[in-house]
Amino acid sequence: MPNYYTDNPELRFHLQHPLMQRIVELKERNFEDKNKYEDAPVDFDDAIENYNRLLEITGDIAANVIEPNAEAVDQEGPHLVDGRMLYASKTYENLDATRKAGLWGISMPRRYGGLNLPITPYSMASEMVSSADAGFQNIWSLQDCIETLYEFGNEEQRKKYIPRVCSGETMSMDLTEPDAGSDLQRVMLKATYSEKDKCWLLNGVKRFITNGDSDIHLVLARSEEGTRDGRGLSMFIYDKRQGGVTVRHIENKLGIHGSPTCELVYKNAKAELCGSTRLAHQICNGADERCPSGYCSTECRRLASSLCRGIDLREGTQTV
Ligand SMILES: Cc1cc2nc3c(=O)[nH]c(=O)nc-3n(C[C@H](O)[C@H](O)[C@H](O)COP(=O)(O)OP(=O)(O)OC[C@H]3O[C@@H](n4cnc5c(N)ncnc54)[C@H](O)[C@@H]3O)c2cc1C
Repeated sequence: MPNYYTDNPELRFHLQHPLMQRIVELKERNFEDKNKYEDAPVDFDDAIENYNRLLEITGDIAANVIEPNAEAVDQEGPHLVDGRMLYASKTYENLDATRKAGLWGISMPRRYGGLNLPITPYSMASEMVSSADAGFQNIWSLQDCIETLYEFGNEEQRKKYIPRVCSGETMSMDLTEPDAGSDLQRVMLKATYSEKDKCWLLNGVKRFITNGDSDIHLVLARSEEGTRDGRGLSMFIYDKRQGGVTVRHIENKLGIHGSPTCELVYKNAKAELCGSTRLAHQICNGADERCPSGYCSTECRRLASSLCRGIDLREGTQTV
């Protein structure tokens, strides 16, 4: 049986890199979990054996489930039905296989149900999923949005959302709008605090959102009345179980058809604040110092680079 991991010595080489010793030490914090969790490694060799096992399982699923499904997924693509996005049929098989194998929330700490994987083996797994089907990789790898919630959310939010992602619920990062792409400072989706509902309500439109009908969304919105730049933006958590967001359109792209790129309409969608208001300001003020991997997720990195461009939030002054 083909296996995207065992058949690929160049990929396997990464675990033999001399820096892995230090990476494992940092991630496992002196192997402090070893007496608390059965699956926690007791030393470096044990950790590498764990990563190898997980990557072999990923390589097997990539070669024998995701890749054989890729052509059908690409031809069928996702569907828009009554304001909801439905994946191509075989995407559900891919999701099922990755869930059964426990390949969700894999970088999260064990206390929330994760495997505490460092970024290196996570990226190796991501590379294999991507080689099998780049469209499905978009859906699967958006699990790394949970890094942003872990970094900036409070403990209650971590306990509420991280186990859900570890059990296979999907995520999206909703930043772009029709008039705000490269320049995220122009984001206009409005967040208003409702005293009656005791929560924030989101109203507006997001565009080009990968996996936009996901279970848990991180949403960039304008919480500060009267502002026009990055200093008035905050990050929110929208839970699909709450309702209030519909899919208006799915882009018909040239490729990666299995990855749904959605336009979303927010109408009084109930949401929780992630971190404090004006989180965008905090991200530019040194998320890189707080996140071990630089910025905590790919989309968080894009957010930081777009918001910091043209405006120096550290000084609070416009530079262009
Ligand atoms: C397949 C796909 C998936 C996506 N998934 C997500 C997602 O999950 N979440 C999300 O929030 N967004 C997502 N996006 C949106 C993506 O991040 C934006 O398309 C991107 O940021 C560019 O924004 P824009 O499309 O509005 O183009 P614009 O910002 O309008 O740019 C148009 C062109 O002008 C150029 N340009 C812009 N500003 C400047 C400048 N100052 N100087 C010189 N040239 C400039 C750009 O390089 C580009 O060529 C996705 C997009 C695609 C195509």
